[in-house]
Amino acid sequence: MEPIIEDRPYLLLTPGPLTTTRSVKEAMLVDLSTWDQDYNNIVQQVRSRIVQLATSTNAYTSVLVQGSGTFAVEATIGSVVPAEGRLLVVSNGAYGKRISLIAARLNIPFVEMICSETACPDPQRLDQILSMDSSITHVAMVHCETTTGILNPIRELGQIVKRYDRVLILDAMSSFGGIPFMVDEIGADYLISSANKCVQGVPGFGFVICHRETFEKTRGYARSLSLDLYDQWQTMEAYNGKWRYTSPTHTLLAFHQALEELADEGGIQARYQRYSACQKALVQGMRSLGFAPLLDDDFHSPIITAFFFPQEAWFDFSIFYQLLKQRLFVIYPGKVSDHDTFRIGTIGDLNLDDIDRLIGAVQETVLVMKGDPQQNSAIFVI
Ligand SMILES: *Cc1c(COP(=O)(O)O)cnc(C)c1O
Repeated sequence: MEPIIEDRPYLLLTPGPLTTTRSVKEAMLVDLSTWDQDYNNIVQQVRSRIVQLATSTNAYTSVLVQGSGTFAVEATIGSVVPAEGRLLVVSNGAYGKRISLIAARLNIPFVEMICSETACPDPQRLDQILSMDSSITHVAMVHCETTTGILNPIRELGQIVKRYDRVLILDAMSSFGGIPFMVDEIGADYLISSANKCVQGVPGFGFVICHRETFEKTRGYARSLSLDLYDQWQTMEAYNGKWRYTSPTHTLLAFHQALEELADEGGIQARYQRYSACQKALVQGMRSLGFAPLLDDDFHSPIITAFFFPQEAWFDFSIFYQLLKQRLFVIYPGKVSDHDTFRIGTIGDLNLDDIDRLIGAVQETVLVMKGDPQQNSAIFVI
């Protein structure tokens, strides 16, 4: 059979899954048993390496959870807030909102601090809420809100949560591995991310870096069996990296390889530089073609950037998307409530040359779309 795709069919300019290296994909060409010592040793290596990426203290431990990133968020929210607890969700986008949806579904009492999607949550407002409501035991927030690409000021927000001595849960899904920060400096008790974001692995599991002392107290809190974070952790601790239930063995091997490649690249700082350079080149190139970013430059993260739809008759997102895909670039639809936007990610195995080629492809696409309608209809037949 012909392979459907060649080695590098199209570049994913999305928030995950991302374009990964061939060597990360090749690491999956081994079948291992979840009971095997070799496999469990690799799990243990992965567990300690992600902790080392997040902190230089030994106050933290890690636990891996099957499923996509949301499963790890749900496992955390559902497992660390006690029955008598109350959660504050700080939200300026769809992923913050998703934490509220999880709390609602699990019948966890929660309140929301809803902020504009195009601005950072106001630290003073958080301070006020916490000072007035002592029933709040836990605070959840998102680091890079992938809805817009905005980077929230977690250091400042985290300090406030710690000043009021509440437990802090950080969704750092789309930033961990791509933006330098230390979990202890922020004061996060739980940091959640997943295999297919900035570490550049493939989808299949999420992970949580947990403040050990805080986490140790959560035994029996979980509202779900398979998403019981504490039980999963206990099993990994007691049985040398064994997962409860089938583990995503191939994904884990790919992730282990991806961690090697992150180190080879020069670590998180070097990756951050690469992503930042790509994001800046992207914005500059898109601006030169008349596209405007949704956010002010100060709010941009190197992860993903939202652009307004051009308010002109020629623009149609699905045609724009298809024409770019023909040119081997896959972009992402928007998710903001109040504006029509699309998003372009700058994470994964890509570099400045790729961004240059993308800008060339966008330029071509715009010309085609503005030009002969005959050419537009051609895309429907491929
Ligand atoms: C990707 C992402 C998630 C998890 O999404 P999944 O589709 O479940 O992997 C959660 N939060 C943020 C901020 C994300 O970027």
